[in-house]
Amino acid sequence: MGPGTLGVLPLRGVRSRCGFTSGTFLLACPKCGERDLAPIEFSGKGRIASFTVLSVPGEEFVKEAPYAYVLVDLDEGGRIAGWMAADRTGGPPAIGMAVQYVAGAAQGNRFAREDASGASR
Ligand SMILES: [Zn+2]
Repeated sequence: MGPGTLGVLPLRGVRSRCGFTSGTFLLACPKCGERDLAPIEFSGKGRIASFTVLSVPGEEFVKEAPYAYVLVDLDEGGRIAGWMAADRTGGPPAIGMAVQYVAGAAQGNRFAREDASGASR
């Protein structure tokens, strides 16, 4: 992905007729075998299913450390991998924490904690 394409890309995935939803593109539905999967756009809201805090980042994340590698269960279904700053908004990530996808990250799928007002930081 080049720098010119950053910042505007929504989260996309696919949905099968059976309702199975994936945040990654698939050739066929793992549940029913359907091959005609419809593209969908996610709201970007979800909850942390799993995470790992990384204090020693790769070069591309030096400015973001410590950060967490997160697996997020999206509200519309599907699970995707991403990352979020680990300690800037009131503590480390937690399983079940509500998060919001943040468009425009230079690397990967960035998420941020979603606060009670619904805004993300
Ligand atoms: Zn299916």
